[in-house]
Amino acid sequence: MNSERLKSICNSIGIKTVGVAGVDKSENLKELLEYRAFNNLNTGLEEPDILKRIDPKLIMEDAKSIIVCAFPYYAGEFENSNISKYCYGLDYHIVVRNMLNNLCELINDEVENFEYKVFADNGPLVDRYLAYLSGIGYYGINNSIITDEFGSYVFIGYIVNNFEFAVDKPLLKTCINCGKCVKYCPGNVILGNYKINPTKCLSYITQKKGNLSEEEQNILKNSDKVFGCDICQEVCPHNKDIKKTNIEEFNNNLLVNLNRSDISELSNREFKRKYGDRAFSWRGKGIIIRNMDILSDE
Ligand code: SF4
Ligand code: SF4
Repeated sequence: MNSERLKSICNSIGIKTVGVAGVDKSENLKELLEYRAFNNLNTGLEEPDILKRIDPKLIMEDAKSIIVCAFPYYAGEFENSNISKYCYGLDYHIVVRNMLNNLCELINDEVENFEYKVFADNGPLVDRYLAYLSGIGYYGINNSIITDEFGSYVFIGYIVNNFEFAVDKPLLKTCINCGKCVKYCPGNVILGNYKINPTKCLSYITQKKGNLSEEEQNILKNSDKVFGCDICQEVCPHNKDIKKTNIEEFNNNLLVNLNRSDISELSNREFKRKYGDRAFSWRGKGIIIRNMDILSDE
């Protein structure tokens, strides 16, 4: 199967942004991950074994290529929103996994002995790096991957597989380096060299379990979000006038605001039943109520 055919199949099921990365171990990425580990820039949510993060063949011994896709989720602006835009629609883990599995079934119809493993934010490889390698987007100073068509409001999913699809090249560009994300970041964590300190990123803090330190609470109070943070993406010129998502699940049945009384009345089980298919529910209701209480305590 050639690249055109792959792209045409992707397009037929609504995947508009696709590229292919190779399966070589990446020494550049290894250096970056070692730097992060050495400087305490890990949150604990990432795969701890660096080798697993840089070597696709540890996932599939005879891996020949990685199909990398971007899934846009921008659904518009909502004034009363108190959660991050990526949580408005159905949980992206479910949507991205389903779309990638669908894609693999269609490839399987045309490629003999096609073997694959699908990942939607649940794999050991660094999905942003794969997005960069496959040319579907380029890095912003805020460490987001920016696509030409949908800005940085995209999820990234990938398929490690045993077919030798032609590998794409990285785009030879970065963001326009306007500095706005650095200026407006509530945690001051964007370092200006395409690296961030994720341990003080508001998005991470809102999802962290347990009590928040005074410093973390102050960062939280710099925003109005009880889950996630969109500031570095909202101020980014690359996200101006971008298209809304073409993916129904990210455009329908939107939930943009969480109300304390609605949530606090629910048992943990009821919360899971009601919101289990939403990306903000994975850490439970306790952290959301904690965040609401900190914000209302100003
Ligand atoms: S998500 Fe928020 S806190 Fe994190 S880097 Fe972006 S602006 Fe800063
Ligand atoms: S806000 Fe400016 S510096 Fe930050 S990622 Fe966007 S273009 Fe780059």
